[in-house]
Amino acid sequence: MIYDLVRYQLVDENTSSMKRENVLLVSLGCSWGKCAFCDYQDDKSSSVLACDTVNKKVLAQVKGREVGSNILEVTCSASYTELPFTTLNYIRETCKEKGIDTVILEGHYIYRDANPFFTDFFGQCGIKTIFRCGVETFDEHIREDILHKGLPGVTPEQIARHFSWINIMFGMEGQTMQQLEKDIATGLKYFDRVNLSLYTTVKNGPVRDSLAIEAFYNSDCYRELKENPAIDIYDEWDEENAHKVGHDN
Ligand code: SF4
Repeated sequence: MIYDLVRYQLVDENTSSMKRENVLLVSLGCSWGKCAFCDYQDDKSSSVLACDTVNKKVLAQVKGREVGSNILEVTCSASYTELPFTTLNYIRETCKEKGIDTVILEGHYIYRDANPFFTDFFGQCGIKTIFRCGVETFDEHIREDILHKGLPGVTPEQIARHFSWINIMFGMEGQTMQQLEKDIATGLKYFDRVNLSLYTTVKNGPVRDSLAIEAFYNSDCYRELKENPAIDIYDEWDEENAHKVGHDN
């Protein structure tokens, strides 16, 4: 079912060192579909027409040079490989029309072999592609036994051969600040950019550890990450967004 969601955002200097526009598009559905922390995979349709209808309206909000942005970040309820091909054409047309020269595509490691096709597809119009992968944590036990992320035995080096941005998640029951610091250090060692999401409880998933998140916001680690231009922090749970991090608004 297609949800009523915030689907366009301008990410500006208030929350990130990299100004860009972000669109949340509707996909045909996630083929993996097992991650314990994920409820957004239900935002999908098996109808290409239904996906395209929403996605065209969302892409029509992209402003590009009008707002001084030349970067478009594309997220969806699955991986970039699971967007209709017609939607990919609309993305490319939007980039051409709005003066966007870089597109960021987010997806699962299982699709890594498809990356060169996307690089070619956008490259034909002079648009650079950056690939962003969700690992959530480099702690193999938490990632595979609890989160069911589907990257068994995969090393940061292997991911970095195909993806240059990485997503890390913190704030689930059982995660510690020490582990977060290790994840961030690994992320910064192997990848150009780290997106850190503070976990939001989902039905039947792990519980958000509010005390751990409060401790994070009060830590030197948080203050250092906020100053690091290679890191973006997102927290959808705090409705007031008191910390002025990435947030739906
Ligand atoms: S691969 Fe992504 S969309 Fe699919 S279940 Fe995992 S987090 Fe959700």
